[in-house]
Amino acid sequence: MKPEILLSRIRIVLCRPSHPGNIGAAARAMKTMGLSRLSLVNPKQFPDAEADARATGAVDLLQQAEIHATLQDALADTIFVIGLSARQRDLGPEIGEPRPMVARLLAAAAEGEVALVFGNETVGLSNDELQQCHAAVSIPTNPDFSSLNLGSAVQVLSYELRMAAFLESPPVSDTVVTPFVSPSATHNEVEGFYAHLEAVMTAAGFYNPAQPGRLMPKLRRLFGRIRLERDEVNILRGILAATQQPTGHGTRNS
Ligand code: SAH
Repeated sequence: MKPEILLSRIRIVLCRPSHPGNIGAAARAMKTMGLSRLSLVNPKQFPDAEADARATGAVDLLQQAEIHATLQDALADTIFVIGLSARQRDLGPEIGEPRPMVARLLAAAAEGEVALVFGNETVGLSNDELQQCHAAVSIPTNPDFSSLNLGSAVQVLSYELRMAAFLESPPVSDTVVTPFVSPSATHNEVEGFYAHLEAVMTAAGFYNPAQPGRLMPKLRRLFGRIRLERDEVNILRGILAATQQPTGHGTRNS
């Protein structure tokens, strides 16, 4: 697949950016590396003259930017998502360095829509946001000063994406291809499965939403690691639906 097509399937998502200047800087960073799709989740101030000024020749990316109320909306049709986090979290998805993770993102881009998700300037990605990602990337830094400016973090990843996309031998998918392979499930389909699973576990008394503990983050980590296919989501939801059916066998014999 042509590198330009792979790059066109990658969206850069900025969660709750506070400073419009950083949105402009991100657009400029992206355009210099051949990326074009910017999504904003709940930006504090946008559109904005400061964003336009910092974007310089990349104002077209700002004009075409998608704006969403939630991260889930921004990711609805994606099949693979990587979150950017300067900090290691004990409940988050597996974490790696930019180069190997970018190779995985491009391999997935050969199959469908993918995303890189960046956090708010002050607080970074929330646990809830990071748990919507299959994997996380931490840019190696000075351990005493590890937080890059948002626009700079976008630049580092955009550069790595361009280098990897234009490699002579493009990255190959890490998915094992079998004759029965189905398309990857989309973010929305997998979120629907998590909601269904949570409801069934709650009804069964296995899970108490008032005392959630670590169950859902751990299950998200498990299923995020294996990247579910659409058929697999349908099977899992079929099993869940079957457990919700009244059995009709008159089991209440006490
Ligand atoms: N103070 C925040 C950092 C915010 S920087 C925190 O501690 O998490 C804004 C965003 O840029 C981060 O949410 C992350 O997406 C990205 N970023 C900054 N430095 C990074 C690093 N070293 N590795 C990965 N992402 C980084």
